[in-house]
Amino acid sequence: MRFNVKRQQQIFARTSGYCHICHASLDFDKYGAVGKSGAWEVEHSTPQAKGGTHHLNNLYPACITCNRAKGDNSTRSARAKYGKKRAPLSVRKRRHAKIVNGVKGSVLGAVVGIVVSVDVSGTLAIVGLLIGYVFNPDKLNKH
Ligand SMILES: [Zn+2]
Repeated sequence: MRFNVKRQQQIFARTSGYCHICHASLDFDKYGAVGKSGAWEVEHSTPQAKGGTHHLNNLYPACITCNRAKGDNSTRSARAKYGKKRAPLSVRKRRHAKIVNGVKGSVLGAVVGIVVSVDVSGTLAIVGLLIGYVFNPDKLNKH
């Protein structure tokens, strides 16, 4: 099954360009580039052999090694090898999570600031905002 560039982009965005199994960072331009760093393939979450479709909700980007090692095994068991339960966040969900984490960090910073010294409360709120926003939500949020 070949996927056109638009389809590849849609699939890639589902995890913000991370392998949905091991969460490694992938390189969009290395689609199908076996042996290259960041190379990836389209992975059928439910294998075609088990009735999996070519609909977007069944397709994820994966490292070539992850994709081929998974074979007809379940996504759940493939991810479990890497201690993962979910796919990395999509581009849209990631943006939302970063804003939520930024707000949480800001509130936390402000509260800590009030406890320590009201003078630093504003500064800590900004630091908390940046930490919450900048960090990869997949690493910050336990799942
Ligand atoms: Zn992988």
